Amino acid sequence: MGVTGNKIVFIEDADNSDSVLEHHGIDKSTVRHLKNGQFFTPGFIDTHTHAPQYAMLGTALDKELCDWLSWYTFPTEAKFADPEFAAHIYNKAVGRLLNNGTTTVSYFGTTHLKACQILCDIIESKGQRAYVGKVNMDTNCPEYYRELTENSVEDTKRFIDSVLDRKNPLLTPVITPRFAGTCSRELLQKLGQLAQETQLPIQTHISECTTECAWVKDLFPETQNYADVYDKHNLLTPKTILAHGVYLTEAELNLIKKRKCALSHCANSNASIRSGILDVRELLNRGIKVGLGTDMSAGYSPSVLDAMRSSLLVSNVLTVRQPQGYQWLPYKEAFKLSTLGGATAMGLDDVIGNFQVGKDFDALLIDCDVTHSPFDTYPWDTMEDLVQKFIYQGDDRNITEVYVSGRRVK
Ligand SMILES: [Zn+2]
Repeated sequence: MGVTGNKIVFIEDADNSDSVLEHHGIDKSTVRHLKNGQFFTPGFIDTHTHAPQYAMLGTALDKELCDWLSWYTFPTEAKFADPEFAAHIYNKAVGRLLNNGTTTVSYFGTTHLKACQILCDIIESKGQRAYVGKVNMDTNCPEYYRELTENSVEDTKRFIDSVLDRKNPLLTPVITPRFAGTCSRELLQKLGQLAQETQLPIQTHISECTTECAWVKDLFPETQNYADVYDKHNLLTPKTILAHGVYLTEAELNLIKKRKCALSHCANSNASIRSGILDVRELLNRGIKVGLGTDMSAGYSPSVLDAMRSSLLVSNVLTVRQPQGYQWLPYKEAFKLSTLGGATAMGLDDVIGNFQVGKDFDALLIDCDVTHSPFDTYPWDTMEDLVQKFIYQGDDRNITEVYVSGRRVK
């Protein structure tokens, strides 16, 4: 593979290296030869995570969604009104994700404009590729963390302008209503309008657990179903990423497919706070775009490797109760969901997601034989064995170099 600047410029067979180098006018001294046990993979893509919840990662998993929000999450996120606290946590969060090979992320921030701008500063300085959303929330939440509808919209516009002013091709603002339960009709309507005007991506949650689904049904009796709440407010577009979607009905799945929205499968989160089990095979069979999400901190791991393993485990568990012939998720497919699948979900598949000439070089150098590797290799291991071992057993120690758009960031 040849990389010039940030782009992949050729992919050729190494056996013909001399003639390839000559053909592309490349100096032999700039060639990097990989050792045995090393390989490149496309960078990992996390299609759904909450940067502020890094402050409580690995704790607070003893409540189900609605109680989890009011007991732990809202109080934690409210602390991001303090810019110093925000900078402290966001530095750690973004650094941790990059260290784990996450080159592209769709982040939820908090409702605070300043803290979201700090998050962008940090992402920019560390060189990650990201969608960043200022969370909107004006109802059914504690007074200390509630926005006035007008302020919520105005701050969102200011946030969008400030991100676009950076003119950083790696950074995109994303319109981020937290979820139907904590947004008034007026707010949803204004955000839908903003999405239409700006043509920006949208991210939110949908159909995560049964209590939340019943609650949203009560809150919006005039709509057909949960997905219809978003659709009525113009929030289902080909640039919408919906997290979870565990309990979507036939009608909702058809609507989501029709609107070309993507689903973010957050298997660790769904299991950790006992929300439910998503049948990802059903989504794939329907041709719905699917990426993987860590959903920290309802998911307890910031690593996309964990998101892959969790999706594999959940699929296997689900298969036990399915009729014979049900196709569980093989590891290769989980790997694809965490790379090209995520890129497609974010509408970035013409830029990243795999190694193709013309795409940006977002890549991880994996070394299976690094000192203190969490797994062992043997002389008879094939390349496929090494990849499989890394997916099932590897961690950040094996991810020795990380590149985003050609720039080394680890
Ligand atoms: Zn979430």
